Amino acid sequence: MSALFSSKSANKNLLDQTVELLLDYYTNTKDVRVTPTLDKEVVRNTVRAFDFNEALDPSLAIRQVVAGLETFSVHTPHPKYFGLFNPRSHFPSILADLITAVFNPQLAAWSHAPFANEVESYLIQVFGEKFGFDPSSIDGVFAGGGAEANQTAVLCALNHLIPDYAANGLVGVQQRPVIYCSSESHHSIHKAAMTAGLGHSAVRSIPVTKMLEMDIVLLERQLETDLAAGLKPLMVVATGGTTGVGAVDDLVAVGKLGRKYGIWFHVDAAYGGAAVMHPKLKDYLKGTENADSITFDAHKWLSVTMGTSLFVCSHRDILSKTFRITAEYMPKEAKDMDITDPFTHSIQWSRRAIGIKLYLSLLMFGLKGYEEIIGHQTAMGELFREELRRSGWHIKNFSPFPVICFTDKDRERDKAFVPSIINAVLSSGKSWISSYPIHGEPVFRVCITNFATEAEHVYALVAELNAAREAYFENH
Ligand SMILES: *Cc1c(COP(=O)(O)O)cnc(C)c1O
Repeated sequence: MSALFSSKSANKNLLDQTVELLLDYYTNTKDVRVTPTLDKEVVRNTVRAFDFNEALDPSLAIRQVVAGLETFSVHTPHPKYFGLFNPRSHFPSILADLITAVFNPQLAAWSHAPFANEVESYLIQVFGEKFGFDPSSIDGVFAGGGAEANQTAVLCALNHLIPDYAANGLVGVQQRPVIYCSSESHHSIHKAAMTAGLGHSAVRSIPVTKMLEMDIVLLERQLETDLAAGLKPLMVVATGGTTGVGAVDDLVAVGKLGRKYGIWFHVDAAYGGAAVMHPKLKDYLKGTENADSITFDAHKWLSVTMGTSLFVCSHRDILSKTFRITAEYMPKEAKDMDITDPFTHSIQWSRRAIGIKLYLSLLMFGLKGYEEIIGHQTAMGELFREELRRSGWHIKNFSPFPVICFTDKDRERDKAFVPSIINAVLSSGKSWISSYPIHGEPVFRVCITNFATEAEHVYALVAELNAAREAYFENH
């Protein structure tokens, strides 16, 4: 067995074959159907066509996996995938994923992977400063995704407010801790409450204003009501770019209330955090500088491969308080150095080096390159809004980011309209869009989530929407 996959020339041959297939896909993504046919039996039979008793020829094995993914995926890297925050991965991060896989650095202990560890702490520092934190107060850790970063925030808030939470959990806590976020917040906040032992009923979904931002007046009223009822407000989560409509809560006002009530102020900027890299967009995130912690996914708007998320906080001691534990079997070479072992700072223990993907991307694009990409996507969002208006569509959200929700004014009461148009668009295989309810009414949701989306793709989508609407009007 040890001889398998150990010859340089044989491995190079396999790598070349793989790269050839991957580059074909990567270069020609625009030519595939965005949507696969969803047939559970067919995909299941394809996957289960082999029982592993005999090893497959490596070239066939590679083709089995590549063809499987190509046939049975929604092609999120397609320029007309106007979907959730699933970007086309940009090439530097793909290279970084490959490099990382080969070295497989162990990010539990600093001394096993000093370079990879220092890359991550440097990036935490860089982004902490971009979010406006005092450089001397910044700490943080990489996470697999925004959900893990938000869970980290809830655990930090608990340890901040309840001094012996790490030792005793919620035993002996008389007043129930409560979390506040808007009704448009990501549901990973609820999940974090569930897994932290608070239960999801500890989360107050504060209604949003007409602008779809958390209603500050109702937030304060709820805080007062809960205090009067003997509950313990724990944290408030403001969203910097909501998943549904791209709304940015008033971070300054929420931060002020957080301070007034002495509770943890977390900003979930999983998507919108990228705005701090663009001079014209960064002011939309004003107020992050007052946050206790921030979630930011580089695998969303920064187009780095999944799962690349940053949890950044402005308290130097809180991650240690929350996660520190000693283990005799862990390496001790660095015990006299002023370093942090990541396993004492995070939910994960053994983990992959996450930050290298973002580091290589920044090295290869530079901040200017990212500014251009973010600016381009924002401009494509503007173009899409203009084209929609010209065709008589009505825009329903107010995001500064390229997330556009819209409908046809004459069909707002017609429950069948939105699903029927979406069905027509998806079944054509030309584009992927979705729907989202605003104040209970379904509307269309389109996001320019791909850096390779150009004006021609925007025009084409509007034409597809117009044609589907026309066909619908003829039949209804
Ligand atoms: C996507 C998203 C999350 C969850 O992040 P994952 O990376 O999917 O775990 C959390 N909050 C917001 C606002 C998001 O858009």
